[in-house]
Amino acid sequence: VSTRAGIVVTGTEVLTGRVADRNGPWLAEQLRLVGVDIAEVIVVGDRPADLLAALTHLADRPVDLIITSGGLGPTADDLTARVVGDFHQRPSALDPELERRIAAIVERLQRGRGWRLDPEATAAGVRKQALVPAGATVLEPVGTAPGLVVPPPDDVRRPDGSAGPPVVVLPGPPRELQNMWPAAVAAPPVAAVIEQARELRQNTLRLWGTMESDLAAMMREQGAALDDLEITTCLREGELEIVTRYGPDRQADYDRFAAAVADRFPDTLFSADGATIDEIVAGLLRAQSLTIATAESCTAGLLAGRLTELAGSSDYVLGGLVVYSNQAKHDLAGVPTELIERVGAVSEEVAVALADGARDRLGADIGVGITGIAGPGGGSAEKPVGLVHFCVSDGTHRRPARWVIPGGRSEVRGRAVLLALQLVRRLLQERR
Ligand code: ATP
Ligand code: MG
Repeated sequence: VSTRAGIVVTGTEVLTGRVADRNGPWLAEQLRLVGVDIAEVIVVGDRPADLLAALTHLADRPVDLIITSGGLGPTADDLTARVVGDFHQRPSALDPELERRIAAIVERLQRGRGWRLDPEATAAGVRKQALVPAGATVLEPVGTAPGLVVPPPDDVRRPDGSAGPPVVVLPGPPRELQNMWPAAVAAPPVAAVIEQARELRQNTLRLWGTMESDLAAMMREQGAALDDLEITTCLREGELEIVTRYGPDRQADYDRFAAAVADRFPDTLFSADGATIDEIVAGLLRAQSLTIATAESCTAGLLAGRLTELAGSSDYVLGGLVVYSNQAKHDLAGVPTELIERVGAVSEEVAVALADGARDRLGADIGVGITGIAGPGGGSAEKPVGLVHFCVSDGTHRRPARWVIPGGRSEVRGRAVLLALQLVRRLLQERR
């Protein structure tokens, strides 16, 4: 049986979707790296009864470890520490040393920001944050709030005879939570849980242009050979992602599965080691010592932005032209006005001229042109909303492509960027 953890993400802002949860996924990945499986991630608002219900539910499953995020601030609605203390029947008491350390941090922050706050209110907030459940380990503050590791009650046994899971209490801001994680892992009650965890490997395959149903059929044929692999497939932004988790003793099973996928889908498997399309394009450009430039109409610089998300991209990205108007297509990328008038701005010919214009004007080896109708207006029977023409050119080879992308304006623009990256990858791989 695997070692399993439950995560409780607190915060009404996360529950309502105003803030997207970054802590649950991050913690899940950190735990997986040390072999701890995730049983459940529960999101609750800032309500003590809901937090208590989530803790009770996870302890009953049972899990070996519980981690909470959020609710450690100085205000009254931040109540995680007290609720967790009550849950493990450990009354909280003021830790005067901790109170002094937090006060010093708060004072430094206030001075740094030039704030003048009500000293009474500040002191009350600090005092609240220095309340520690009896027997808990304090994790030193990264922001102002300390974290906690609260062990299960000393003298109470659960029906299964165990003491129950220790609870790691971490702050909500992702940077604080992440920086506090190493101290949490080192705390003895947590270290003991991780000690008994078994390594869990994870590998990712990415395909582009294979249907999920074809993959499912292939996996059915494999039958019992996949029994000891935990395989999840997910279609994401046009890519089919296969994530497999398995114990080290199942490496050979996984290798056979990965080889079978490569064998069946040789043209669409583009990543066998978890590398993203961005990393693959960057790697190909570097390996061939090539530079790239873009001329973008409907994506208006999104591809250039995407290409420069990776650190070090100045080694191969020269720049991008945002050519939204016909005038800009002519003036910046050198597309003949006569051509645009004859075939229209959204056309294969203009995409090719944009790719060559980007190469030419920026002196790049590879040029990418994108022109399309992002919508919601501007479509016609002949050129519907979502129609996008692409071209990737290295001066010798020109690879035009045409897609009608479903969805609203932001989907069309977002997907166009990904399609362009795939087209760049294809051309670079053909050149090898
Ligand atoms: P604070 O002292 O800031 O109140 P806290 O530990 O009480 O710290 P929260 O109040 O829960 O943390 O969250 C503070 C801020 O951190 C939130 O407003 C939100 O922007 C961010 N945050 C909290 N939880 C998450 C989460 N799960 N994912 C992403 N961001 C989060
Ligand atoms: Mg808060």
